[in-house]
Amino acid sequence: MAGTSYQNLIARNNRRWNLDGVHNATETFRFGRPRFLLGSKAIGADEVATRLANGEKVLVSRELEVKYQDRVSLKRETSEELTSPGQLKTFAARFDRPEGPAEVYQVQSQSLTGWVDPSEYETANFYDGNADFVVTPDEILSEAAPKKLSYENDSLLDFQFHRLTKQIPPQVVEYLDSKGYQKAMLDLAGERPDLVKVLSIGKTREGRDIQVMRIGHGDNHAFISGLSHAREWLTGQVALETARELVNTPQLHETLTAWIMPVHNSDGYEKSRTEDPSVRTNANGVDINRNYSAEWRLAGDSPHSTSDDKGGSDRLGSPSFRGKSALSEPESQAVERFLDEHSEITHWLDLHGYGKLMIMTDEQELAKNSPLIKALNTELPDYKVLDLNSYGATTGTSIQLAKKRGITSMVLELETSFQPAGAKRELGVQKGVRAAMTFLKQVTERSNRHLSTKPNL
Ligand SMILES: [Zn+2]
Repeated sequence: MAGTSYQNLIARNNRRWNLDGVHNATETFRFGRPRFLLGSKAIGADEVATRLANGEKVLVSRELEVKYQDRVSLKRETSEELTSPGQLKTFAARFDRPEGPAEVYQVQSQSLTGWVDPSEYETANFYDGNADFVVTPDEILSEAAPKKLSYENDSLLDFQFHRLTKQIPPQVVEYLDSKGYQKAMLDLAGERPDLVKVLSIGKTREGRDIQVMRIGHGDNHAFISGLSHAREWLTGQVALETARELVNTPQLHETLTAWIMPVHNSDGYEKSRTEDPSVRTNANGVDINRNYSAEWRLAGDSPHSTSDDKGGSDRLGSPSFRGKSALSEPESQAVERFLDEHSEITHWLDLHGYGKLMIMTDEQELAKNSPLIKALNTELPDYKVLDLNSYGATTGTSIQLAKKRGITSMVLELETSFQPAGAKRELGVQKGVRAAMTFLKQVTERSNRHLSTKPNL
């Protein structure tokens, strides 16, 4: 075992790595035995193995040199004293990273310090204003602070910290996983089989069921969706809790049929819970909410160039990658097929996070739905109302698809962080559920006033 770790580390000595498109790095690993007053004497694999097996000291050092063109930007030495094969294994696990050299960029949030994962060096370099290989809170805030969205510094710093280090934030335990959601939906249907049905509208790329609950028996049909963006953890919980609230609101059961899909993108969601908390796309790297068939690509945006990207990206790896073609993904296909099969649906609330925004496609939609906006504003007075033009160009989104189909729809960007924890999560759920229930009530009131305006498409 000592042999493998030793060989792997020594094999890295001749490699030159491109870190972030700008800097190159080399590493030198050395093993030695301590000599009284004379530093250490270099030793080979056999002696390392023998000494560690006997519990004798082995010194291991790693020297990192990072260059920009020919200028040395960073030199760092890490040394350890090892006395067991297990310690060598731990040292090797830290530094023998196939993606590149470890422990190059440091990252700090308000309360945390860690090492940037090699896969995130490009982002770290982008943030690191003074190129000292330390990404500080000030640097993160000056680059990552969103313009139109409401956010809080602490949440943003924590998120960027977990993103750059690829650590899963501790509040993951406050959120159900995909299986937990499935069980919760089936439990709800089990409690009220007269009222709640769970159906699968298709499968994700990795073969998970995409499940929708149907709740109620009314003639007014509304759709609520969550977690099409993997990292927006709050949205799934708001959708599920809205379903529970609706089950306990009998006055709506005879006027409303709600279709509720808490977890649209369960593949991406699972990845965000276990590998990379910043992932937004599906298992294929596609942003589902840029992959719908309406306005998938704007005029003047050519398919084979990313320099002219408008409203979605043609670069695989971008969080807003629109996919190779409209509706290329099973998750977007499932929703469009579902809407085909349920043309009785007149309203769609698509839950996202974060930013405290209510977004509809355009000024006319906002004007046409002023009673709905007014009612939602009463529940969420600090949320801003925007149309897509003011938000910024987007393509292939849920609300653009809805508009094409004559469905009244809104994107609700909940609260101020992707993955709120503790009291902030609880408050976010409460506010989200109240907003979703207000939305559903408006759907029924609309029909009471006989204002149904859905065109035949
Ligand atoms: Zn989103």
